[in-house]
Amino acid sequence: MKASDLSCFHLTAATDRPLGNQSFLDNRLFQPLTMHEWALAEAVNSAAVEVGEKEGLKEITELNIRIGQLQQIDPETFKFALSSLRAPMLKNAKFNLKTVKAELKCRACEHKWDFSPEDLGKDASESIHFIPEVAHAYVKCPKCGSPDFEVTVGRGVWIESIKGVR
Ligand SMILES: [Zn+2]
Repeated sequence: MKASDLSCFHLTAATDRPLGNQSFLDNRLFQPLTMHEWALAEAVNSAAVEVGEKEGLKEITELNIRIGQLQQIDPETFKFALSSLRAPMLKNAKFNLKTVKAELKCRACEHKWDFSPEDLGKDASESIHFIPEVAHAYVKCPKCGSPDFEVTVGRGVWIESIKGVR
């Protein structure tokens, strides 16, 4: 038996769509957020199994999962969903979750910077966590002051590495 360490499998959430102009008080918002963790957990499980089968693994022992800081997700629910949905190949797998800082890039001057919603204070931080699109109302490029930026890292969930036994 040989231990294997595989790296970098990116996933995008099927349910990761912009929430547009919906208001915070709109109850419809909360349903997709609850479903979201389960949809992502299912995507992680099936991607892991696919990799495991391709690599001829008997068992997957450890999954290192990265969550973009701007991804709307509840880590506890996500972890519960991952454990509940585990495929036979993952029956003893350990799920390690880690949040990855967002990186933003200014469209006006191309400056890139690390971004943490916590730097902005509680209200802004919570708004951005639930609706990343509102980040533009709070965040400006630290170099040129433009509010026109893109999120280069910080959305989505991905498997950084998989450990298993052949
Ligand atoms: Zn700029």
